[in-house]
Amino acid sequence: MALLQISEPGQSLDPHQRRLAVGIDLGTTNSLVAALRHGVPECLPDAQGRVLLPSVVRYLDPSLGGPGREIGFAALAAQLQDPANTISSVKRLMGRTRAQVARVEKLPYRVLDLQDASMSAQPAAGMAVVQTVAGCKTPIEVSAEILAALRQRAEDSLGDDLFGAVITVPAYFDDAQRQATKDAAELAGLKVLRLINEPTAAAIAYGLDNGVEGIFAVYDLGGGTFDASILRLTRGVFEVMATGGDSALGGDDYDAALAAWVLAQQGLSAALTPTARAALQAEARRCKEALSSVDQADGSVLFGVDLDGHSVQQRVTPAQFEACTAALTERTMVSVRKVLRDAVLGKAQMQGVVLVGGATRMPQIRRTVCEFFGQAALTNLNPDEVVALGAAIQADALAGNSRRADSGDELLLLDVIPLSLGIEIMGGLVERIVPRNSTIPTALAQDFTTYQDGQTALTLHVLQGERDLVADCRSLARFVLRGIPPMAAGAARIRVTFTIDADGLLSVSAKEQGSGVQASIEVKPSYGLSDEQIAAMLKDSFVTAEQDMQARALIEARVDADRMIAATRSALAADADLLDPGEGEQIGHLIDALTQRQSSSDAAAIEAATESLAKGTEAFAAMRMNRSIRQALAGKKLEQI
Ligand code: AMP
Repeated sequence: MALLQISEPGQSLDPHQRRLAVGIDLGTTNSLVAALRHGVPECLPDAQGRVLLPSVVRYLDPSLGGPGREIGFAALAAQLQDPANTISSVKRLMGRTRAQVARVEKLPYRVLDLQDASMSAQPAAGMAVVQTVAGCKTPIEVSAEILAALRQRAEDSLGDDLFGAVITVPAYFDDAQRQATKDAAELAGLKVLRLINEPTAAAIAYGLDNGVEGIFAVYDLGGGTFDASILRLTRGVFEVMATGGDSALGGDDYDAALAAWVLAQQGLSAALTPTARAALQAEARRCKEALSSVDQADGSVLFGVDLDGHSVQQRVTPAQFEACTAALTERTMVSVRKVLRDAVLGKAQMQGVVLVGGATRMPQIRRTVCEFFGQAALTNLNPDEVVALGAAIQADALAGNSRRADSGDELLLLDVIPLSLGIEIMGGLVERIVPRNSTIPTALAQDFTTYQDGQTALTLHVLQGERDLVADCRSLARFVLRGIPPMAAGAARIRVTFTIDADGLLSVSAKEQGSGVQASIEVKPSYGLSDEQIAAMLKDSFVTAEQDMQARALIEARVDADRMIAATRSALAADADLLDPGEGEQIGHLIDALTQRQSSSDAAAIEAATESLAKGTEAFAAMRMNRSIRQALAGKKLEQI
């Protein structure tokens, strides 16, 4: 039974109207569910009092009968004996192709990209699926098992059905990964109130609990992902100024580095049976966690494991552990420096640094972050729980329970998009509509026009990237706007609107303003970009910016020239009789001169020739205007006009 809640008069809804909403941190290693109880966010424990639910699902042989799967601690305990059917770190597979997953890491279970007819949810071609004794499972189905277990836990603890949930995702999750997370929640019977970025959730937890304002860095090292974000907190408004990181770097990699070091010390080969590999990983993790609480100066931990009948006993000191994982720590700091550059801020401008994720308990992380920023990090909230707590606060607000929502002073969350979005325009150029690092949700529009007389359709090609040429950006979608009434080139006004919702999902619409015809598309790419690809695209755009600018200027000059020539030719075809032969010949020369220049690579020369043609046809244009006015007025009485 839910406890009755007491609050200041007028500050909360009637208890009977309170909607039960939870925050869920769907983590790579562990997941948590939290809710506001008595106005305070709390992680909800299971029947044994444990708040963490290992993000692990084990599938059982269906011919044996029974529940068919184990979730959480039971599954984790079975990982050694049944690694092939025990799915951990499934978050790394969400919205990913098998090729993307294979590049990132080796997993103790089989990842395929087959489309198996026995699957309940058909994955898109190439998407990763996991082969188990109970058939192939999509990462969405596996995540849905974890979410359903958390939902059950919440309903048991709170004593009623849930209204909805806020689910957190790494800031770097792309559209496909966010969509996969939403799909998993729906499969688990959860209404998704919103997906929010993990560092943003952490900021909510800290911002509201401590009442702080200013610019903050969030350093989030979980089991499988690393996010660095710069947030600005102003009176309850959180703005993500920049975000970056590495979705393939986390505490698991520290385990792997330690395991590799121990094998090397023992002169052992890394070729192990799946059971031995799982045992090695589990011991590496235990040892790593134990090293966080030993005396850093002269403590040590015994790494002891049996590998395929071979007993391994290795003492590990904090200094040795730090040395064999130093490259990983440095990788996180590379991301931190890059995010600061993106936000155009110096480390001294940070008023605070928030540490999130279980792996930030490692003393070398705390020390490195503290030395870099020149200040101790905020750690007064549990780093494992802080994301779920923030999500719970947000869920409560979105469900309409909180004071903020009542007073209209709604908690505003602003996240950013990692790469610019735009559309293809004439000449293979990209017109950027939503610049990179724009805060979301957002809607931005720009007007475009037709290129040819009588053009009745327009293909819109949606692109992502920082480069000026279509060929250098990533194609997200194409759609066609049909039914534009025939008009002269340049007369139609087509408003293209990019809308990105709070979950980072994009829809693009195009509307011809005069006739009202419209078309739209929701952009859900079948898979997204990895962090490395985003980083590479950004790097390319910096390196080639000058070159791109020149290429763009040349293409624009050529397109303008084309447009000018076509318009002049069509005017000559209609009204050449207005000109005397000398004038007609002069315009002909100007067209020829521009046509010749057009193939040169001198943008300024093409522009000059276009300008000459424009000047040389000014008088002709005036004569045409007079004629059309005369025609329009012919035979009409003054009062009809
Ligand atoms: P999270 O994804 O935030 O749950 O973080 C899980 C990661 O934190 C795993 O790699 C854990 O091994 C790691 N972790 C948890 N506790 C500790 C600890 N005391 N010292 C070092 N790492 C830890």
